[in-house]
Amino acid sequence: MKFYKDHYDVIVIGGALAGLSSALMLADKGKDVLVLERHNLPGGIASSFVRGGIEIEAALHEMMSIGEKDNRLKVGKFFDDMGVDIEWLKVPEAYHASLPGLEVTLHPGLSTFAKEIDAVVPGTYDKVLSLLNLCNTVFDSVNELSIHPMSKAKMLLKHEAFVKTAGYTTKEVIDSFDLPKKAQDLLAPYWIYVGSGFSDLPFTIYSVLRADYVGYGSYIPRKFSHEMSLKMAERAEAMGVQIEYRQHVEKILVKDGKAYGVRTARGDEIHADYVISSAYPNKVYTSMIEPASEVPSKAIKMVNGRRLSLTAFSVIMILDDTAENLGIKDYSVFKGDTMDTDLLYKDLAGLGPYRYLTCICHNLGNDTATPPGTCSYSITTLPQVKGWKTVKAEDYDRVKHEVAKQMIDEMSAYLGVNLLDHILEIVIETPMTVNRYTNAWNGCIYGYAHTMEDHIIARLQTAEEESFIKHLEFSGAHAISGDGMGPAVTNGRKAAKNVLDTMAAEEAAK
Ligand SMILES: Cc1cc2nc3c(=O)[nH]c(=O)nc-3n(C[C@H](O)[C@H](O)[C@H](O)COP(=O)(O)OP(=O)(O)OC[C@H]3O[C@@H](n4cnc5c(N)ncnc54)[C@H](O)[C@@H]3O)c2cc1C
Repeated sequence: MKFYKDHYDVIVIGGALAGLSSALMLADKGKDVLVLERHNLPGGIASSFVRGGIEIEAALHEMMSIGEKDNRLKVGKFFDDMGVDIEWLKVPEAYHASLPGLEVTLHPGLSTFAKEIDAVVPGTYDKVLSLLNLCNTVFDSVNELSIHPMSKAKMLLKHEAFVKTAGYTTKEVIDSFDLPKKAQDLLAPYWIYVGSGFSDLPFTIYSVLRADYVGYGSYIPRKFSHEMSLKMAERAEAMGVQIEYRQHVEKILVKDGKAYGVRTARGDEIHADYVISSAYPNKVYTSMIEPASEVPSKAIKMVNGRRLSLTAFSVIMILDDTAENLGIKDYSVFKGDTMDTDLLYKDLAGLGPYRYLTCICHNLGNDTATPPGTCSYSITTLPQVKGWKTVKAEDYDRVKHEVAKQMIDEMSAYLGVNLLDHILEIVIETPMTVNRYTNAWNGCIYGYAHTMEDHIIARLQTAEEESFIKHLEFSGAHAISGDGMGPAVTNGRKAAKNVLDTMAAEEAAK
């Protein structure tokens, strides 16, 4: 029996959130899809692993864009529409901020959030709520415009706040509200999820992040992020998608500026009308296009011109007691010795000690996260990729353990418990781990940084020009929306939509 068909409509490289979203959407429209995944499991970063008989989340802190069952946001709705049935658990709080002079737990809901800030910084309710409402208006515009593009004149009429704030940084807009520093600090913690300091972060991106997480709350799947990828893969196969694991795609075959198939490390040459790649454009344009003469110089310029976003360093532990007994009170803690995001961003270029940590105790959002009498606790920072690139192989083990120890010591001091005395299992994930398991370029987890120079609006406008090879689309955190698991799903859907639109246009032109 032949392993592959002679021809597919679409080959998707990578069976993680983005690639599987593309596959589901294409299969839903009756297309014949092959997914090639180099690992022996689906999911990429959206995965879990087992240590000492305990299943452990590999990455996910919280998912955006899910929403309640009767009021789904776009990612939650996509899963429902595709028949991917996930048991979503709402994270109980927005976050606990542990910042100089502040120990505050804030909860989702725009007015709840503003009230809780007002309780700590009196007299700020109206201004904070009005900032959050502005974020919400921009968020609604982004959602509508991403589905219904419109003329500039109409946009100005219907989406005034979005248009007026688009050219400003987050810092500029927040400063214009003239809030006391403590209130500003309490509005900053999620910043690391988008990976740019506020002097360079478009307010549009801040708005989406803030309105989504604070307005609607965040969610986790009961069976970890792997529940998403496993169920997506299962559903895709039920819809007729062929998924092959342990198949590393080495080359994307191109002729006369148009992709027509791939070659795997095993030597199979497989043909399709379209290729969707979860591999980073940096990797694709520098080593995967065959023949290399088909790589346009503009594509190399584009990948060199974009700034990679952040990678991850995470210490994930299973502890030998309950969260309550260990004094862990919050699902999510952001801890920093300053809330100057520009300074913190610079700090992430080094190898620690890191000044901004994000800690998660899954048991406080998921009562079945670990066996009774234990709990999970992860301490994470998201460094820039350049620092870790300087670590020599012979120093890697030492540096990794030093950084992990600093992070454990800092959180032990915060909790008043020596975490080292309570570790049943520990895993240290570094940028190298991410690179090894997912092939992500330099271990990057968020694609390209959202900056004023590389504004999402400009990305949307130049998307067509940046489609350098016909019938080749990109699907992953490195595509237009960037940043995280929810956007990876959105990017996967967008890549599939581009393929479907091109198919329809080419059919119509025949
Ligand atoms: C510690 C940590 C914590 C995080 N926390 C959060 C969080 O709380 N919320 C959030 O939204 N995001 C979080 N993220 C980021 C998020 O996990 C990623 O942005 C997202 O999962 C990326 O999904 P993806 O589908 O683009 O890529 P990936 O998950 O990187 O998957 C790419 C897939 O393609 C496959 N592949 C690559 N090249 C090839 C090839 N040549 N041939 C075949 N297969 C190939 C890989 O094996 C992999 O399966 C976190 C990440 C880390 C590391």
